[in-house]
Amino acid sequence: MTDIVTFGEVLAEFMALETNQSLGAPGHFAGPFPGGAPAIFIDQAAKLGSGAAMVSCVGDDAFGRMLVERLAADGVDVSAIATRPDATTASAFVTYHDDGQRDFIFNIANGACAEIAPRQFDGVLAGCKLFHIAGTSLFSGHMIDLARQAADRVKAAGGRVSFDPNVRKETLARSGARQALTDLLSRTDILLPSDSELNLLVDIDDDEQAVERALALGVSEIAWKNGSHGCRYYDGATVTHHESFAVSEVDPTGAGDSFGATFCTLRTQGMAAADALVYANAAGATAVSRRGAMEGTSTRAELDAFIDSHG
Ligand code: ATP
Ligand code: MG
Repeated sequence: MTDIVTFGEVLAEFMALETNQSLGAPGHFAGPFPGGAPAIFIDQAAKLGSGAAMVSCVGDDAFGRMLVERLAADGVDVSAIATRPDATTASAFVTYHDDGQRDFIFNIANGACAEIAPRQFDGVLAGCKLFHIAGTSLFSGHMIDLARQAADRVKAAGGRVSFDPNVRKETLARSGARQALTDLLSRTDILLPSDSELNLLVDIDDDEQAVERALALGVSEIAWKNGSHGCRYYDGATVTHHESFAVSEVDPTGAGDSFGATFCTLRTQGMAAADALVYANAAGATAVSRRGAMEGTSTRAELDAFIDSHG
């Protein structure tokens, strides 16, 4: 049974070893680490025991084989990840700065994952309870169409849609981008913004008014991530704040995806939102304490142990 499905990029990530290292000069990098926002999300969902599948494409290369093997080893159904012999697996290079900013060079839109075909969804969408859209995967009109079509299929069959916008000002400047994202927002049940993403998305500076707008578009739950400050939760009836756990941050990449996947998976398994948010904060805190975006995903037993040891 596949309860949770996502689509988009699986990629090989390389991290600069020095803080403030330039991506424009020779330097030392660690990697390849498995990465890609939807890949981290689905890895975390599988580790929590839900049937979880990913729709993607990799090249016929060592990165692709590493990624598929890693997802499969963590329990992800990889039957809808196709190998494209003429394409190269996506990759990313990242460097961290003192002020917490990150610089990326992505080979995603020009990577194998850009070649997902609509029929790849056919084997995994039946019975899907939650379809997750990562904003990072919406890099072309083709990918936006795939997201819209899969969301419609899942909703028509009674499932829900989660959406982590990961939107930036530059993304919204592209022609048609705002309308496309608003279309997806109106299909979203669980919204997972961070920082000022929701404000950008609905073009409203005031947080509470931005939330009202999202709820009016049909969103039923919002878990608003705020790094070391934890998260806020809105469902139209209640507003709650949940402190994050105190940890020392080693690598922030992937925290949002581990958090979102934990919240959505446990909600799909029937857990109350207030409890699922504690687990989600624990998953985000665990993710930032480990180097490598997917190295920070956790099993339920690991999250229970983390919560016990952190009060
Ligand atoms: P990403 O970089 O993956 O896109 P994001 O911006 O979507 O991340 P964040 O708000 O950075 O999401 O992190 C998600 C969650 O992870 C937070 O709500 C919090 O629970 C946890 N978290 C993030 N950073 C820290 C930290 N420094 N200490 C403790 N918990 C953290
Ligand atoms: Mg994010």
